[in-house]
Amino acid sequence: MPYEIPQRLRSLEPYKPSPNDYDIILNANESFIDAGSRLQGLVGAAVKSVKLNRYPDPMCTRLREAYARLYSLDPERLTVSNGSDEMIALIISAIAPDNGTVLIYEPDFSMYRFYAQLYGRKAIVVDKGPGLAVDIDLTIEQARRADVVIFSNPCNPTSLVVERSEVLRLVSSTDALVVVDEAYMEFSDQSVMNVAHEYDNLIVLRTCSKAIGLAALRLGVAVAGKRLTRLMQSVKSPFNVNAVSQAIGEAVLSQGDYIRGCVKAIIESRDSLYSALCVIKSERVRRIFRPDTNFVLIWADGARGLCEGLAGMGISVRGLGDYIRVTAGSPEENARFISAFKALLEE
Ligand SMILES: *Cc1c(COP(=O)(O)O)cnc(C)c1O
Repeated sequence: MPYEIPQRLRSLEPYKPSPNDYDIILNANESFIDAGSRLQGLVGAAVKSVKLNRYPDPMCTRLREAYARLYSLDPERLTVSNGSDEMIALIISAIAPDNGTVLIYEPDFSMYRFYAQLYGRKAIVVDKGPGLAVDIDLTIEQARRADVVIFSNPCNPTSLVVERSEVLRLVSSTDALVVVDEAYMEFSDQSVMNVAHEYDNLIVLRTCSKAIGLAALRLGVAVAGKRLTRLMQSVKSPFNVNAVSQAIGEAVLSQGDYIRGCVKAIIESRDSLYSALCVIKSERVRRIFRPDTNFVLIWADGARGLCEGLAGMGISVRGLGDYIRVTAGSPEENARFISAFKALLEE
């Protein structure tokens, strides 16, 4: 029999990120601060230290230690992945039970659905409704039918956060494995990362791609108790994180003051972007969501046209149906975005 592409894969297409040939790139929630130029000496030395002929440390020991110091965690409870994206894929493909069901929200990070489809998992999709908030009581009820519950907190794309007490109420009210993707938690304060080991059904995912500004390196960190950590370390491919990423990651994560400074600057940028949007008077703007992330979500009539207009002015944002997601940029980038956005609304 000739090879046939499985039915569930036939509609898939290569992932197309927004093109990056714009003056101002506010489409992917990256940090506007580049560690490579701020910490040149340190990053250069880290690259130089790598022995290119040797395999990397499969356990990422030094990187885990640096991450643990930065966030006051036990390094034994950390697993490093090639971006948190890799761990999301592993959880859905390998860690979810055979024929398992995955509970996903809509809207939420699109990769959860993508991997559920890719690995032929049954997905229960819970609609967030018009307020776009997560309803924990509804989740507890729906989770009775699920083996894995996965969601981002704070959420991409809604920018909203679920309180820590509510997340923990979900974790202790369900038998399902709960995966809390805290990619944006540096910009909020409701993390459950430091208590993850107290639960045997909780994995917290973190990333170096957003607050820490190392998206290019692909570094994700999973935090969990002993049993789940051992499992994640056992199912990942041995040399998943390359040595250059480990070395630079370790060097940057050791710079606590630098990272805290980055987080502070990004939060200030986010707050000023939000304030500037809130004072815009236009009937087309229906709601600006108060963000707990490094981006702002706008609900606007004719969102698609507005995104196209911005692109025409050299500014790339993320259009999502009736919504526009704008990453907080440098003060100059925010100012350019705001004036372009206002001009388009007045047209
Ligand atoms: C950006 C993002 C990530 C980060 O993924 P990496 O693979 O670590 O770069 C994970 N989850 C959410 C919700 C995100 O928005």
